Amino acid sequence: MFDIEKAKSRGLKPEQIEIMQKINENSLKRDNCKKHDFVDGSRFGKYRCKNCGCEEGVEFVLGYKQGLKHASEN
Ligand SMILES: [Zn+2]
Repeated sequence: MFDIEKAKSRGLKPEQIEIMQKINENSLKRDNCKKHDFVDGSRFGKYRCKNCGCEEGVEFVLGYKQGLKHASEN
């Protein structure tokens, strides 16, 4: 998680702060989700979870799916 207060005190631009806040919000959603169910996201290469609304890149989603598969096999 980004430390927003620290970022502000370092004089980062508002656009940069906003991006950090969005990433923090996304991380919170992702971490509180019981089980992701990914569908196509807002743009190419992005996927959104139907359950929590987090949005992740293709590498995260592939890794997540493989993790589930392996967990179910063992
Ligand atoms: Zn989720």
